[in-house]
Amino acid sequence: MNTAHPTPTLGQIINQLAAPASTFALSVTVDFAAAHQLHGYEGNCARLHGHNWKIIVEVTGQKLDDVGMVLDFKTMKKAAREAAKKLDHQFLNEIAPFDQINPTAEHIAVWFFVELSGVLNQTYARVSAITVWENDYSAVTYRA
Ligand SMILES: [Zn+2]
Repeated sequence: MNTAHPTPTLGQIINQLAAPASTFALSVTVDFAAAHQLHGYEGNCARLHGHNWKIIVEVTGQKLDDVGMVLDFKTMKKAAREAAKKLDHQFLNEIAPFDQINPTAEHIAVWFFVELSGVLNQTYARVSAITVWENDYSAVTYRA
């Protein structure tokens, strides 16, 4: 028997996972299609056009529930889908707050952050980042 490197017990592994400095980051992805137009911008995006946006929602937590989860992926997906549904197949410039502020990827990221924080934030888990992919090559991540 090797006493120098004993096999850790399950309890020891769980305690290690629950160490104060350790963090779990969960993410789910949803998408939606919509049109937008950017005002005060010189370039293609000043003209009316559409994108298939991909939204990655990240929730961060340090504590696991009795099942061993920070938050159920199902809960995250449901909330993210409901938020995306509000923008899907819309002309974003006609929907608040994008009738007042440009529907840039940055503003869309903050919009998702506010929408989802209200639904998903809990004592030990919170929305920590939203990434908005505007196409296959360009993305914005908002962290808070
Ligand atoms: Zn655009």
